[in-house]
Amino acid sequence: MMLRIKLPPRTTAIIAVHLYGQPCDMGPLKDLAQIHDLKIIEDCAQAHGAEYHGQRVGTIGEIGTFSFYPGKNLGAYGDAGAIVTNDSSLAQRAKMIANHGRVAKYDHIMEGRNSRLDGLQAAILSVKLKHLDSWLEHRIQLSKAYLKGLKNIGDIVLPVINKDIRHVFHLFVIRTKYREALRAHLTAKNIETGIHYPIALPKLEAYHYMKQADAKMMANRLDNELLSLPIGEHLSREQVQEVISEIDQFFKLKSETIAIYNFHKN
Ligand SMILES: *Cc1c(COP(=O)(O)O)cnc(C)c1O
Repeated sequence: MMLRIKLPPRTTAIIAVHLYGQPCDMGPLKDLAQIHDLKIIEDCAQAHGAEYHGQRVGTIGEIGTFSFYPGKNLGAYGDAGAIVTNDSSLAQRAKMIANHGRVAKYDHIMEGRNSRLDGLQAAILSVKLKHLDSWLEHRIQLSKAYLKGLKNIGDIVLPVINKDIRHVFHLFVIRTKYREALRAHLTAKNIETGIHYPIALPKLEAYHYMKQADAKMMANRLDNELLSLPIGEHLSREQVQEVISEIDQFFKLKSETIAIYNFHKN
């Protein structure tokens, strides 16, 4: 498939965001990048360990960026992050920028900033890294249970997993027009849910200048239907089953309520 996109003038790079843990379709993006001589930066903040056609995300574009913010699939106990690249001069430059632009003590060759990874966070991450793959497998198993358990419930759009990829399910996001009511029902049953994200980027004040807040695009249309169900290495199969039955219960109650309403109306 060839992507047809109107590129803004002076475009130099594409940021591919592997949102929710599912890799972007990198093939067409790479073609596009090649034709227009663009770099690809992969945002892997939600996709540690995800794979596209057998290749780990972060190794496909020129640069891969990872977040180890506590809530991510691999999280430190405070802020942390990393970038990966195969380009040694880029790596060198990134290291310099992160360390006030210096190449040696007191020898600064450019203006940088401080984004050094704290040693304590690095130690915590080294310990957790060993468990990452089994945690990801657990997430994948839970997502399978969700997909199976929620398959026959109407009024829900389930995540679609693309072919030949490893989706690591940082988030398990469903879509429903009854988002607020379903969320309230789950909250009442002590089931915490999230919304990722409640305001589509074009509608954020920060991006008003792009004048796309009313543009007819998927993101703008769906931000009031998204609901993230509980998922994570801490969660058991039984707990996921409980969430599924509560969702099932909600939609049964809802259709009964509508049936009673129609009965009285007639
Ligand atoms: C969390 C996140 C970021 C930001 O990561 P920080 O560590 O807070 O800088 C960027 N992109 C995506 C997709 C994220 O989920």
